[in-house]
Amino acid sequence: MNEKKPVTDCEKREGSIRDSTRDSARDSTRDSTRDSARDSTCDSTRDSACDSACDSACDSACDSTRDSPCDSSCDSTRDSAEGLIKGSSPPTPSEERSRFHYSPEDISIDELMRRQGYAKAGAHSAVKTCSWLKNSMNGTGVCYKSSFYGVTSHRCLQMTPTLMCNQACVFCWRPTEVEAGIPDSWDDPETIVRESVKAQRKLITGFGGSKNAVPGHYEEAVNPSNVAISLSGEPTFYPRLPELVTEFEKAGMTVFLVTNGTNPDMLRQIKPTQLYMSLDASTPEMYDNVCRPKSKNLWEKVNESLAVLKEKKSEGVRTVIRVTAVKGLNMADAPGLAELIKIAAPDFVEVKSYMHVGFSRLRLARANMAEQEEIRAFANDIASFAGYQYAGESEPSRVVVLSKDGKLTNVR
Ligand code: SF4
Repeated sequence: MNEKKPVTDCEKREGSIRDSTRDSARDSTRDSTRDSARDSTCDSTRDSACDSACDSACDSACDSTRDSPCDSSCDSTRDSAEGLIKGSSPPTPSEERSRFHYSPEDISIDELMRRQGYAKAGAHSAVKTCSWLKNSMNGTGVCYKSSFYGVTSHRCLQMTPTLMCNQACVFCWRPTEVEAGIPDSWDDPETIVRESVKAQRKLITGFGGSKNAVPGHYEEAVNPSNVAISLSGEPTFYPRLPELVTEFEKAGMTVFLVTNGTNPDMLRQIKPTQLYMSLDASTPEMYDNVCRPKSKNLWEKVNESLAVLKEKKSEGVRTVIRVTAVKGLNMADAPGLAELIKIAAPDFVEVKSYMHVGFSRLRLARANMAEQEEIRAFANDIASFAGYQYAGESEPSRVVVLSKDGKLTNVR
């Protein structure tokens, strides 16, 4: 892999980011353009930890949600959540609620997302830059999607057309107990694309005057070449998703879309460049425990979607099964997962550790993050049962990728 490894653990990463931000700030105090750059970098770096675990695109392990209401409870939560490693159940919604130090009735999803650095794009969509975009902009590293699939990290737009979700995954870094309601009306796809690009440009404005940015990267970044529809929430709730995919493609972007697999009917209709489906359990019981579905029969829907994923390949869609591995919860049944993966027969399988960031810290312990060697061993187990081969890994993102022939191909 060509991926640079700026840091090897979250503390180093956070320290490094803060140091470079401080340096940048010191050098730029008399230059208003650079001041702007510094502010933007500070804000986006600070808030980069809370992107959706659906995609885990950000992979930022720094505990940087300074404004998050969860911060004050992290230490006590971590202690109490250690029990999960020993096999106890995740906290119930009411236990989780008591750790938030706010009443869900008193805070809107918009306000929570604003505090986490999300930018609204239109009425119900949201955009957020991830730490890898910033690293790529500054020449200090790239996302594993760059090294695995050729995505240019500083030209990647991470967004979601809706924050609604029908699961409350225990590893999700969004506040799963605060509901995003159904909007009064849905924006049209053209509006979502236009507003998303506009929001992204605003979020990265500061890099235009930053002396830390690699020359030319900002100019490239204002025109995203890839969209990751995966930020937070389940995108298949947006009723015009097929048109949205097409609209992003018309704007010159490859489209990565991540779904939890609970809406097979919508999966049949979409044709993104690369379709990810999360598969985080091998049995209905494990699914209930890890993904915490909000309505009945979703496990059956997930299973139906596995077959749909296989059909998508004949339509030219690249497919990926994503396993978010939570140590102590869903890493014990590689053969069971492999059987389900065989139904979907995806091009790639990504096995990725849970990252202890955002609101997931209220539910899980840092010890629920698997080490790279544990992820590699688990992935190799899945590979041997499912008939796949190791194809690469990224240690900063704690992810291993598998493919049928052990090779990876770029999207462009
Ligand atoms: S499916 Fe929903 S709850 Fe689960 S990680 Fe994705 S956004 Fe969070």
